[in-house]
Amino acid sequence: MSLNNSDSLGHQPDLPFLDADDCSGAVVLVVDDDPTLRLLMKEALQQVGFQVMEARDGQDAIDLFQQIIPDIILMDVSMPVKNGFEACEEIRALPYGRYLPILMMTGLDDMNRVKQAYKAGATDFLVKPINWVILGHRVRYMLRSAKTLEQLRESQKNNQALIDSLPDTIVKVAINGTVLDYKAGDGGSLKMDKKDVIGYKLDAFLPKTLATELSGLVLDVFKSGETASKEFTIKLKRNKYVYEGRLIKIGDYEVVCILRDITERRNSEEKIHYLAYNDALTTLPNRSFFNEWVSNRLSYLRKLNGFLSVFILDLDNFKQINDTLGHNIGDALLKSVALRLKQAIDTVCDSQHGCGDECEVLLSRFGSDEFAVVFVHPRHAIPVEAIASEMHKEFSHSVELLGHEIFITASIGSASFPDDGRDLNALVKNADTAMHHSKRHGQNHFRSYSRSMNARSMDRLTLENSLRKALDSNELLLHYQPQVNLKTGKIVGAEALIRWQHPERGLISPDRFIPIAEDTGLINSIGEWVLGEACKQMKHWVDAGYDINRMAVNLSSIQLRQPDFIHRIRRIVSSVGIAPSYLEFELTETTLMRNAERSISLLHEIRDDGLVLSVDDFGTGYSSLSYLKRFPIDALKIDRSFVQDLEQDSDDAAITFAIIAMAHNLNLKVIAEGVETPQQLQILQEHECDEGQGYLFGRPQLPIEFEELLKKQSD
Ligand code: C2E
Ligand code: MG
Ligand code: MG
Repeated sequence: MSLNNSDSLGHQPDLPFLDADDCSGAVVLVVDDDPTLRLLMKEALQQVGFQVMEARDGQDAIDLFQQIIPDIILMDVSMPVKNGFEACEEIRALPYGRYLPILMMTGLDDMNRVKQAYKAGATDFLVKPINWVILGHRVRYMLRSAKTLEQLRESQKNNQALIDSLPDTIVKVAINGTVLDYKAGDGGSLKMDKKDVIGYKLDAFLPKTLATELSGLVLDVFKSGETASKEFTIKLKRNKYVYEGRLIKIGDYEVVCILRDITERRNSEEKIHYLAYNDALTTLPNRSFFNEWVSNRLSYLRKLNGFLSVFILDLDNFKQINDTLGHNIGDALLKSVALRLKQAIDTVCDSQHGCGDECEVLLSRFGSDEFAVVFVHPRHAIPVEAIASEMHKEFSHSVELLGHEIFITASIGSASFPDDGRDLNALVKNADTAMHHSKRHGQNHFRSYSRSMNARSMDRLTLENSLRKALDSNELLLHYQPQVNLKTGKIVGAEALIRWQHPERGLISPDRFIPIAEDTGLINSIGEWVLGEACKQMKHWVDAGYDINRMAVNLSSIQLRQPDFIHRIRRIVSSVGIAPSYLEFELTETTLMRNAERSISLLHEIRDDGLVLSVDDFGTGYSSLSYLKRFPIDALKIDRSFVQDLEQDSDDAAITFAIIAMAHNLNLKVIAEGVETPQQLQILQEHECDEGQGYLFGRPQLPIEFEELLKKQSD
């Protein structure tokens, strides 16, 4: 406790207090015009440990109070200059004076004065004549209660600050529904003036629906005594507000309602939910939404014995459109596909295939160029063929996008509950398998799932896994098939043809595993191995002095796409140490035409290195001879399907002769593939085909066997 009251900063400090348990050293200001009484009081109080200051009248007390700030004042009533009431009133108005304990000293029978003392702001009164023994105790108790009161005020102030800092609207409601107190929250919709709220019932100022709900809940909380929480949604002037309310009963007669405006939170949650469940480009539901939707339907369809079909639809050659025309067009195309599918669904629902009102349909985008459609019916099987055909119809016409006319087709697969799968994963997997089967069948096809598809897919998957190990485990080998000059009958070259000696399945043909190698990218390393092996074999035969001058190796379009392809082949050829002119690359028409411009420049580089280029399986692709003029090629290999029917089919014969004639015009050499009979040979010779390859001259065979042929020839 300080005797110095100067507050240089001009603050209105709170009353300084003694320690809670110890009032010794507290300063007591004794105000009385009777010096004897002052002396006696001083004696009595000092004896019990107080410090005592004296004032002789009201004005003196006020002056002294401002200098020393006592802890308590004992004030006589009747005094000259300024009486005790006036002094009390003035002190109350001074800094530190408001809550200071002031004990008025009055006569026993003077009830009027007692009342007046309280009115003037006295804390309590002391009856004269004074009992000196209990005076010290009385002062101590007063100090203690003043301290307790101050602590209470402090904690109330803190509570209020806390409440004021909350963003919530707080309404205190009495048991009769009248609002006792109100604090506006930060949210805009429930901001009102205290005066328009306090003393009124909730429905006098809250929106009707909220008032009714809240009043009901207030009653429940009064009855049960348990805290309740609830979310309220109100509509005000076209805006929707969401409040989270907590109602707490306080004592027997009050309920406090804390209302928090969670509109923004709800809005962002809704937005997050939307983004999590919808595809941003097409605004269609995404795969997560699809999964939940289908799982949910399946759970009740199982009980109802209902039906559900999943269609998976993948656009054909979408990547090519995206790569060549750009992503803007790609995006616009996907949006237009979404619209077309919606249109197809509407048509199906309106037509006689439509499943009526009981049918539910969901269209969603799985990502990239893959869409999924689900049809659900509680009683009837879904007519998958009719629905797929309706979807295909939507793809039969072109769309104009940003000035480009675009045709796109789609491969569709379906799987149906319960026959093709009983849960989400099985249905999606099987619909996907069916879609891939229809894709392999060509473009714009539909397949519904059948069990054999899965067996085939499993088989392919197992093969794919073992193919990954085949190269390292030396399971791959090359066979060589002779290429013969049809004028001299001599072997002039060999084609290297790969085989896979599978440890369990035996010899597997390239038709079976090359597509897998291409899909998985394994073709790059396999292709390099083939080239290396073929180069070594050729070098061996050349070094041994055999009369053979060409080794043909097949190339896949995937290999050509490697950015460093040319460097890779140069490295292999030079490491074996064979002249590039001994090598010929066979490429199919499709490989050439795929990304034609890039192919042309790459093939020029290859040919400049001295390698020979030929077009394999000619006649089965979609290139024209005139177009081929632009490619730096040396030879055409007529596909064996034409050679096969040379004797029976006059059309095939005509095509073969035309190819030979036109190739010669373009200075290209012609090799006939698949020559099996002497008759075929004779016809080809008559039409001056340059070379032939086929079982008639020799099957693809092991190097030692091939070497035997070469030996025989040189004898
Ligand atoms: P291709 O390049 O057109 O090879 C010719 C295919 O015709 C070979 O089949 C060969 O065995 C077969 N054949 C040859 N003469 C006759 C005949 O008189 N009658 C009949 N019916 N068939 C004959 P194979 O070895 O099964 O190869 C199939 C295809 O696999 C090849 O067709 C080629 O496209 C691909 N291929 C083979 N080896 C490789 C390779 O190392 N890399 C790449 N990328 N593809 C390869
Ligand atoms: Mg070939
Ligand atoms: Mg061929």
